[in-house]
Amino acid sequence: MQCRVFQTYRPVGMMNGFHMLDDERIPMTSTTARVAIVTGGARGIGEAIARRLAADGCAVAVVDLREQQAAETAQSIRDDGGTAIAIGADVSDEAAVAACVARVADALGAPAILVNNAGILRDNLLFKMTSDDWDQVLDVHLRGAFLMTRAVQKHMVDAGWGRVVNLSSTSALGNRGQVNYSAAKAGIQGFTKTLAIELGRFGITANAIAPGFIETDMTRETAARVGVSFEDFVAGAIAQIPVGRAGAPADIAAAASFFCAEGAGFTSGQVLYVAGGPTA
Ligand code: NAP
Repeated sequence: MQCRVFQTYRPVGMMNGFHMLDDERIPMTSTTARVAIVTGGARGIGEAIARRLAADGCAVAVVDLREQQAAETAQSIRDDGGTAIAIGADVSDEAAVAACVARVADALGAPAILVNNAGILRDNLLFKMTSDDWDQVLDVHLRGAFLMTRAVQKHMVDAGWGRVVNLSSTSALGNRGQVNYSAAKAGIQGFTKTLAIELGRFGITANAIAPGFIETDMTRETAARVGVSFEDFVAGAIAQIPVGRAGAPADIAAAASFFCAEGAGFTSGQVLYVAGGPTA
């Protein structure tokens, strides 16, 4: 149960007859859950992260453009015994982000965990890429992560505890046809490291996960766009992956669960490639 609220630090000394170490954290008697926001949580990797954080004991806000699908994900988490609400919001819209974070705080309590996962692709070779393709991708990934983090950090700073997890990608290292997405995902890494520097003193960590090939609707849509069956597309990806299989959303959720855990408080500003093997 990694998301239960823990007191931060107890002073060194005797408590209830036991000598406490200065870094021991004691569960509070109440089992108030930490509140987590997962953007793009309706499907794919975001859905898996929302489910995993709920299983870890968090109350989860599933935020997505796809409001109906977000509602279904939240309902399914509640059916499994978790706590979840759904919010339809565009993370690149400043007013929508402010309303979303206020609603989470009102309905579930102050958010302590933020997973910036919402993402889109608008792939094309540079000479065919439109300015809209560029702007939309940078707006969702970078402006979206910026707006969400700026809105949520106030709650984390007040609480003296927070976890920010940002979704980067192996495409940050360069990928043909993705000059916009690659720039955004590399930008997410710099964003993450700077958050870690600025927010660390408030008990807030910031880390990035850079997935390799994960089977989701996003990769399914890419296969369709390039005119390859999804089975052939997956097989082509697997041929390049040392562990010999494609990634699943749960692989990324496991990494997110680690970064959000109590025990990860000294892990910050890191980029974890979760790609079934080493990356360049
Ligand atoms: P996905 O299946 O397409 O899910 C992304 C979700 O985010 C969708 O429901 C999408 O809604 C939503 N979304 C898009 N723009 C949004 C916005 N402005 N505000 C709120 N929600 C928005 O993608 P995925 O494969 O799970 O990927 C999740 C994250 O991992 C993304 O950041 C992606 O770049 C990253 N990633 C994925 C892979 C991979 O192999 N799948 C690899 C590396 C990194 P719409 O469908 O309506 O746009």
